[in-house]
Amino acid sequence: MQARRIRVRGQVQGVGFRPFVWQLAQRMGVRGHVLNDAQGVLIHAEGGELDTFEAALVAEAPALARVDNVDSSPAEPWGAETFDIAASGAAGAETRVTPDAAVCADCLREMADPGDRRHRYAFSNCTNCGPRFTIIQGLPYDRDRTTMAAFPMCAACAAEYGDPANRRFHAQPVACPDCGPRVWIEPDGGLPDPVEEAAARLLRGEVLAIKGLGGFHLAVDASNETAVQTLRARKRRPAKPFALMGTLEMIRRYAIATEADVALLTDPAAPIVLLARGAAALPEGVAPGQGTLGWMLPYTPLHHLLVAACDRPLVMTSGNLSGEPQVIGNAEARDKLGGFVDGYLMHDRDIARRLDDSVERADPPMVLRRARGRVPGTLPLPPGFEDAPQIVAYGGQMKAAICLVKNGQALLGHHLGELDDPLTYEAFLQADADYADLFDHDPALVACDLHPDYRATRHAHARGLPVVEVQHHHAHLASCLAENGWPLEGGKVAGIILDGTGLGPDGTVWGGEVLLGDYHGFERHGWLTPAPLIGGDMAAREPWRNALARLDQAGLGDWADEVFADKPLQMTRQAAGSGLNSPMSSSAGRLFDAVAGCLGICPDVQSFEGEAAMRLETLASASTGLRRYNLALGIPVSSMSAGPIDPSPMIRAMVSGWQAGETLEDLAFAFHLWLVRAIEGAAMTAMAKNGIDTVVLSGGCFQNALLAELFQSSLKDYTVLAHRTTPANDGGLALGQAVIAAARHLAGR
Ligand code: ZN
Ligand code: ZN
Ligand code: FE
Repeated sequence: MQARRIRVRGQVQGVGFRPFVWQLAQRMGVRGHVLNDAQGVLIHAEGGELDTFEAALVAEAPALARVDNVDSSPAEPWGAETFDIAASGAAGAETRVTPDAAVCADCLREMADPGDRRHRYAFSNCTNCGPRFTIIQGLPYDRDRTTMAAFPMCAACAAEYGDPANRRFHAQPVACPDCGPRVWIEPDGGLPDPVEEAAARLLRGEVLAIKGLGGFHLAVDASNETAVQTLRARKRRPAKPFALMGTLEMIRRYAIATEADVALLTDPAAPIVLLARGAAALPEGVAPGQGTLGWMLPYTPLHHLLVAACDRPLVMTSGNLSGEPQVIGNAEARDKLGGFVDGYLMHDRDIARRLDDSVERADPPMVLRRARGRVPGTLPLPPGFEDAPQIVAYGGQMKAAICLVKNGQALLGHHLGELDDPLTYEAFLQADADYADLFDHDPALVACDLHPDYRATRHAHARGLPVVEVQHHHAHLASCLAENGWPLEGGKVAGIILDGTGLGPDGTVWGGEVLLGDYHGFERHGWLTPAPLIGGDMAAREPWRNALARLDQAGLGDWADEVFADKPLQMTRQAAGSGLNSPMSSSAGRLFDAVAGCLGICPDVQSFEGEAAMRLETLASASTGLRRYNLALGIPVSSMSAGPIDPSPMIRAMVSGWQAGETLEDLAFAFHLWLVRAIEGAAMTAMAKNGIDTVVLSGGCFQNALLAELFQSSLKDYTVLAHRTTPANDGGLALGQAVIAAARHLAGR
C-alpha cells in the first residue's frame, strides 16, 4: 500500500481547509490525518486514489483558501483505519490569519429563510465567510482569542462547530440569535426591529452611525440631497467623495459596472470599487466634480438587512473626526460621533482591530487603499530572497502602512492614515506592537524613509536595531518590482516614478523621476525641472502656489499677476527667490496642482489631498476628438536625453490654449499626454542605452487611471511592471523599503 506526506502552503488556515481535506478523504476512501503547523497544512494520506486526492486539494479548495504550492513525498504507511483532523501543534504553530470576508451565499440563503434558526440574524457566518482579522486578539486562531469569546456557544451552535461535515466546523465566530451578538438602536424607540427602525430613520433624512466590521460608518440616504449636505456640513467635509453601498441592482442603475467591476465587487474582500457614473444620477454632493463613484456591496449580514430595508443606496463614509482614525468602540462612538449623528445602529461584538474599507479599481486594476478584506494577506518574496531575515519597514508619513518580512513572505499591513495626526500616530504605534505580537515577529533589521522628520523614521531609529534608510522613490520602484516577483538578481529596470514628494539624497525634494536601478541601488536618469514649493507644506494644499512658481519659470509672470491678483504675490515670490521655506522639488503631483491652478481648477485651496489632480483627471477623461491630440502634439518635449525635463513649454501651451478658448477637457488631456511623452522619452533613452526592456510604473500619480492607461499603451513594446495588488501610492512604500533592506542584508553576508 502507498502513503504520502503532503504539504500545502498558502492561505490555508482559518479557511476551513482541514474539514475540506477530511471530506475529500471520506469521499475518496483515503485514511490518515490532517493538521495545521507553522508552514501551513500537513497531510498524511494512505490508501484510496492518492493522485485524484492530491489534485482535488487544489481544484476544489475552499472559497477563501489560496494554495501557493503542494509538495508531496512518499511516506511509510501507518495502517491507519480512519482519517482524522489532528489537534493543532503548539502555540505559534498556526501562523496565518485570513482577511475578513463578505458574508457568503449559503449564509444569506439561511437568513432569508423564515424557517431557519438564523432567519434575519445579523451575525451569520461560516467557514467560508465572516469576520477574521477584525476579531482576532491572538494566535492560534481559536474562539477564546477572539472578541467572540464573550459569547458562549449554545448547544446547537456547538454541535455545528464540532461536526467536520458541517459548513460551520471550527468557524470561530459561529453564532445564532440564542447565543450570539445582538443589534440595537440608539436612541431607542420606534419599530420593534432595530434594523427596520434604522432604515425608517435614514429614509427620513437622519444621519446614523452604523457599527460595522472594522469600524463605524456614517450613513445617510444617498438619494437625499439634503441629507448628504447635512452630513457634509456636520463632518466639515466639503468635497471629498463619499463611498456608497448598494446591491448590484442599485449599482447598475447609477454606475457602469463591467464584468471585471462586478467580479471585484463580489470578491470576498468586498472592496469599494471606483465605477464610472451611469444613467441615473445621485445628488452631486455625493462626489462633487468626480467622474467616478466609489461603490461597495453590503458585506456583513447587518449591511444586507439594512440596505434591503432601505431599498436604496446609502452613503457609507468612515466614522471619524477629520484626519483621525475611524472609531471602533461603542463608547468612543457616542463620545466622538455624537455631534455628527442623529442616532446609532449598535451591536455588542467588539472590534479588535480597526480596518477601513479597501478602495480599488478593476480596470486598470489597482489598489488605492489596502485594508479590510486584503490584510493580512501575504505576498511571497521574489526568487533570491529566500534567506531574508525578519524585517519591519515603517513606510512614509502619508498613507502609513507597516510591512513585515518573515519566512519568505511579505505582509503589507493595513492603511493607517496620515501620521501628522497624533491619534493616527498612536494607532501606528499600536499596529506596530499588534503585528509584532500577532505574527510572533522579531526583526533583525528596521527599514524606513530617508526623511529624518517623518514620525515613522524617528520611530524606526528609536527601536535600537540596525536601520536601513531608503530613498522614497527607490522604495516605490522596489515595491513594484517585489509585487511583480522580479528576482533579486533580475537586473536593472527603468522606473517611471510620478509621485507627491519624497526626500532625495541630494537634499532636494523629488517626485517626478526616471530612475534606473533594482533592489540593490539606483541612479537618477531624468527628472522634472525643479520648482520651489513655496511655503513648504502649504504648497501641497494651495495649487496657486505651484501655478505661480511654474508660470514665473515659464516667463509668464505677467499672466500670473493678473490671474492671482488677490494673492500675496510679492511676499510669495520673495520667499521663492530667497528659498525661505521654499524647497526645490521635481514633484509630479505638484505639477498636476500647478496645471490645475493655471486652468482655474480649485486654485485657492484643496479640501483634500489630490483634489485638484483628480479634477484634472476627470476633465481629461471627458475629452474626446482629435483636437486634444493636436493640442498635445503641438507641445515640444524638451529633452530625450538624461537630465531635467522642463515643463515650461507645456505651461505656455496651457495658458495660450486657455486664452484661445480651448476647452478645459482638451487642455487637461493635452497635459496628461505631454507628461507621458516627456517622461517616457527619458525612460526609453535610459533603456536603450543600457539594453533594458523592462519599465516600472509607480508613485501616487499612478492612481490616475488615465495616466496609467496612456503610459501602458504608449509603452506596449516594453515589459511594463505596474501595481495591481499593492498601492502605487505611499501605502506601498513599506514593502519597497523592506525588500531593499533585505537585499542590502543578503548582499552584505
Ligand atoms: Zn457563510
Ligand atoms: Zn447559538
Ligand atoms: Fe510617495
